[in-house]
Amino acid sequence: MSITDCTLSRRTFLSNSALLVASSCTNPNPPFGSNHDHDTIQTVSGLIEPQEADFVLPHEHVLVDFIGAKKASKSRYDVDQAFGRILPYLREAKSSGIQTIAECTPAYLGRDVQLLSRLASASDINFITNTGYYAARNGLYLPEHAFNETAMQLANRWIREARYGIDGTQILPGFIKIAVGNAPLLAIDKKIVEAAIITHKETGLAIITHIGAGKITAPRANAGLEILKIIKRENMPGERFVWAHAHATVYQSALRQAADSGVNLAFEGLTSEEAATRNAKLVARLYSQHFGKQLLISNDGGWYHVGKPDGGKFKPYTNLIKWLLPKLTAEGLNDKQIKQLTHINPKQIFSI
Ligand SMILES: [Zn+2]
Repeated sequence: MSITDCTLSRRTFLSNSALLVASSCTNPNPPFGSNHDHDTIQTVSGLIEPQEADFVLPHEHVLVDFIGAKKASKSRYDVDQAFGRILPYLREAKSSGIQTIAECTPAYLGRDVQLLSRLASASDINFITNTGYYAARNGLYLPEHAFNETAMQLANRWIREARYGIDGTQILPGFIKIAVGNAPLLAIDKKIVEAAIITHKETGLAIITHIGAGKITAPRANAGLEILKIIKRENMPGERFVWAHAHATVYQSALRQAADSGVNLAFEGLTSEEAATRNAKLVARLYSQHFGKQLLISNDGGWYHVGKPDGGKFKPYTNLIKWLLPKLTAEGLNDKQIKQLTHINPKQIFSI
């Protein structure tokens, strides 16, 4: 049985969405889905035309705090200090041709949309932020209410963010970011996936899911395959789902099964040139199997760590350009095929 029998089209939702969200929301001018009649991308600075996204990094981070949901707070860092540390890396990205970054840090893990807004203005990079929760690592990054509420109640929180704004601002998410632990999925993992699907059905936002965590083993792949079953059961279009960290999946057969099901596969983890070599081979192979329209590439870079001196070691956003793109060319991809990965595919993911 379906978790929601919602059959409203996304456009219908955009005009009727107040039916679902709590009536306590009082923003007089909700900016979400402001009756636009064509696809747009929601950034922290407002809606942009999809072509304005240009070169997109679909999975990066700015600031992260791994202290856990109970203690995570903006009072744990000096935002001006973080801003000053992060900005040069964004300027470097911008001067390398990167125009848009999807920031994949969920709430209770360091998501700071006001910082993103400041960084967007200062760097002239479009930032896309997210709604959703991170259920991996035994729920350490989940607020108490995630355990007590139903999938529908959690979805309503996220839909409210998509309609009225995040953390008291009018900044809206441009996608749903969740994370699950290793297989077998726990009840809390499944609930977070179901909440994301409800939110997707009501908002049109795509879902990016961190698949598994920890050791790279077969169960890591199976967590993704378990999610594919839920997606199928709920009739969610695979093209709106992103299997993040596909590069870490050991079994090629799992990736092939995922690609066959129509979902998108994201390859990141560019912490070394060797990682880029491996990703280039994986991406080129799937491209040659006619899955080019379902592949995403990013660094999974950034990571100003709250609690470490000066934010610790920051991973630049340009490894993809420096390492991965030349290796994709060496693997036989032409410029048009590479642009499919850097421009066309992410543009479609984030268009609503
Ligand atoms: Zn990430």
